[in-house]
Amino acid sequence: MSGVKVLSVASEVFPLIKTGGLADVAGALPAALAREDVEIRTLVPGYPAVMAKLAAAQPAHIYDDLFGGPARILSGKVAGLALFAIDAPHLYNRPGNPYLGSNGLDWPDNAQRFAALARVGADIGLGAIDAFLPQVVHAHDWQAALAAAYLNYADRPRPGVVTTIHNMAFQGHFPMSIFAELGLPPQAISIDGVEYFGGVGYLKAGLRLSDRITTVSPTYAREIMTPEFGMGLDGLLRTRAAVVQGIVNGIDDTVWNPGTDVALPQNYSALRIDMRVRNKTALQTQMGLAQSVERPLFGVVSRLSDQKGLDLLLQALPGILARGGQLALLGSGDPLLEGGFTAAATSRPDSIGCVLGYDEKLAHLIQAGADFIVVPSRFEPCGLTQLCALRYGAPPIVARVGGLADTVIDANEAATAAGVATGVQFYPPAVESLTYALNRALDIARDPAVLRRLRLNGMRSDVSWRGPAKRYAALYREINRPAE
Ligand code: ADP
Repeated sequence: MSGVKVLSVASEVFPLIKTGGLADVAGALPAALAREDVEIRTLVPGYPAVMAKLAAAQPAHIYDDLFGGPARILSGKVAGLALFAIDAPHLYNRPGNPYLGSNGLDWPDNAQRFAALARVGADIGLGAIDAFLPQVVHAHDWQAALAAAYLNYADRPRPGVVTTIHNMAFQGHFPMSIFAELGLPPQAISIDGVEYFGGVGYLKAGLRLSDRITTVSPTYAREIMTPEFGMGLDGLLRTRAAVVQGIVNGIDDTVWNPGTDVALPQNYSALRIDMRVRNKTALQTQMGLAQSVERPLFGVVSRLSDQKGLDLLLQALPGILARGGQLALLGSGDPLLEGGFTAAATSRPDSIGCVLGYDEKLAHLIQAGADFIVVPSRFEPCGLTQLCALRYGAPPIVARVGGLADTVIDANEAATAAGVATGVQFYPPAVESLTYALNRALDIARDPAVLRRLRLNGMRSDVSWRGPAKRYAALYREINRPAE
């Protein structure tokens, strides 16, 4: 097996800067792939949080002008990650969220900021840094996707390029007026290039011009080729179906390990599953719920957005309460949903607990204390909370979409008889089918042996990065070709 050098281009990377699952993937893949003889360096914008760690780094490449100002590529190792960072204060030296100003709106120059990221990624792919010549450039989401265009229109041998879709809802679609600033040749304005509905489409360009396209689950890979989920790009994706592939994400099984998790009052494992109940009691106490070992406790850890389908759960709550169930919810987002769950908790404090905000420690306690984790998403590229739930022995109740469909085995008769079920699936994402699924879960909760079996099956399923890393490594080997 020969080593492959890969440049991963991402607009966020855990633990330096994170707004979502993309950061987790970009942060976790390098270590997982090192075991597969793949050497990854990650290119990220030099946001303040990144520059704070790389202040002393030596420049590996210098630009007199990168989209309106001088810039340098810095190289260094941070938190175990081999990083290249773009030191370009005029583009990235801004506090807070990487994409939004303090007014909550996109930065007005996001088209330039992320064209610069893609441009630098392509330059490294074409040999800008002698010490690291990648055989593959791996671009993540629209913010990096223009790399495929820069590589294709460079008119010289280029490395293999793969673009990964983490969420089709974000596409980087800009007016045609931006094109003049991109430094691409006129022939790039074409249906086979960057042109997209009369403007410039960054993700579209990546999907059209990459050697391979991946997304974060096989079911989402199929779904995005349909008008219902394709968000306008399904037609293009169908023409490229032969190079589209789904690779499910993993979770960091050292961070998410119930045996050692310091956020838990009680550690436990599949062998000592009975001790788990102490976390349920602690969770009920922390959320102000009535203490009861018997009452089925449903948990939610989520952004509160239309995508996540929690309006359906809000409507289904009376059914849970009527059968003695409880809910522990942690999340933030849509004010209507925040208000709805807060009002529900106020009217039934013994049964419904609601914490608004982002709380890593409570997220772990909910996973360890709830009997079930509910994920009723309308669409879900992969989803991480159900993977955590499997690992923590809280059978997930999920809509059968995207990565949720691929990672949870429904407790139907066949799967139960075969001893492989890990949760409950429902479809479509609608109140009636969710209610039916919740009732199935309440039935399961009445039978401790069945619930125990589900918990153990989940805890024994492999949700680590090991399998996904092997798939990415195989993909890189298929497309690797160094620039000359
Ligand atoms: P998405 O990236 O669409 O928000 P995922 O399920 O892929 O959804 O990943 C969400 C991650 O963020 C999970 O690890 C989840 O535990 C975490 N998370 C979401 N909301 C919160 C919250 N309010 N507090 C703590 N962690 C949260």
